[in-house]
Amino acid sequence: MLDERRLNILVDAAKYDVSCSSSGSKRQNTKNGIGNACFGGLCHSFTPDGRCISLLKILMSNDCCYDCAYCTSRRSNDVPRATATPEEICELTMGFYKRNYIEGLFLSSSIFKSPNHTMELLYETVRKLRKEYNFNGYIHLKGIPNADKLLIERTGFLVDRMSFNIELPSEKSLKLLAPQKDKNAIITPMKMLAQDKYFYAPTLRRKDFLPAGQTTQMIVGASPESDAHILKLTEFMYRTYKLKRVYYSTYTPTNFDTSLLPYEQAPLIREHRLYQADWLLRFYGFTADEITGTDGFLSTDYDPKCAWALKNPQLFPVEINTASPEMLLRIPGVGVKSAYRIMQARKHAKLDFSDLKRLRVVLKRAVHFITCKGKFLGGANERVVKNLLIGAELNQNAKQLSIFNNYDSAVFSAITGEL
Ligand code: SF4
Repeated sequence: MLDERRLNILVDAAKYDVSCSSSGSKRQNTKNGIGNACFGGLCHSFTPDGRCISLLKILMSNDCCYDCAYCTSRRSNDVPRATATPEEICELTMGFYKRNYIEGLFLSSSIFKSPNHTMELLYETVRKLRKEYNFNGYIHLKGIPNADKLLIERTGFLVDRMSFNIELPSEKSLKLLAPQKDKNAIITPMKMLAQDKYFYAPTLRRKDFLPAGQTTQMIVGASPESDAHILKLTEFMYRTYKLKRVYYSTYTPTNFDTSLLPYEQAPLIREHRLYQADWLLRFYGFTADEITGTDGFLSTDYDPKCAWALKNPQLFPVEINTASPEMLLRIPGVGVKSAYRIMQARKHAKLDFSDLKRLRVVLKRAVHFITCKGKFLGGANERVVKNLLIGAELNQNAKQLSIFNNYDSAVFSAITGEL
């Protein structure tokens, strides 16, 4: 049985992987409060039908033989080490599941002895869970680069989702900060998971292979790459490797004995803007080139859609009753759902501002970029519009906190993506 000391080490070390939306918070419990976001051990994931499910988040081992400069579990750090056995992880998962604490498992690992040895342990854990314990709950498994293809492919038939973390946005930074890792070892399994046929299990059915797809994670701010670079890489990975999500993790210093890394945490607003831009790439028809500024970075003052609209005044205002679906999606304050509602509603009657409010358009932002039946109610000039947009964003963040207590705005944006 996994003792409390090892359990604490393994769940605490797992909190640095943010391939789920609720990691990274520093909020601790207060004297009379309830809950504590600092403890590791639990994360949340969203199923394709929108349900939020709780996952046990744990490492198989934090006894790593690699030495990545940014990582607390690196070989050269003097930290307590622990490794669990497949049987121990299975028992823990089943025990928690039966008590209704969790609905699934997020299992990751440091490189324990070698990539293949680690992947074998992970494979054996999920095989046991599925075949011996008959566990049918959700499993997200972090794949190990450089492990044998057969192991990776077989694992893909047992888990719902797998992620190979790209870690850093360029090969140069990877070489510098994670010298034992290499780009090809990460990219090759991502490519393999995106394929429609299998080398080792040609008779098995596609629908049984990673039904929740694959994701990846990138650290932002540990290396000098711009937002434009990060978003172009993201765009490429969505297109080429059919990723479900790219997660961005703000760099947080944990090792202070190296000159290779910044001494300060990267600003959280950067992660927040990247998540917003990510939604624009996936659902709004934008390209990475369109949404980054001339300096290669996203605006910190405005969300990326507002920043793009301000950069392209010649395209606005747009008449809401005649705009194409593509252009509706580009109007700040009009989300995917509200664009659809507008298209349905305007078949029956010409829409006015009061109708748009009912259709859940965020008028505080949209009003500066639209006309309704030829009428314009936006700001008088660019300076006024910019000030009003900044004010609208501040108010929105205040409202977000009241709806999703305990979630920060980056998390909210990651959940809804309505821009
Ligand atoms: S491989 Fe690198 S990032 Fe992963 S646990 Fe080991 S040292 Fe940390």
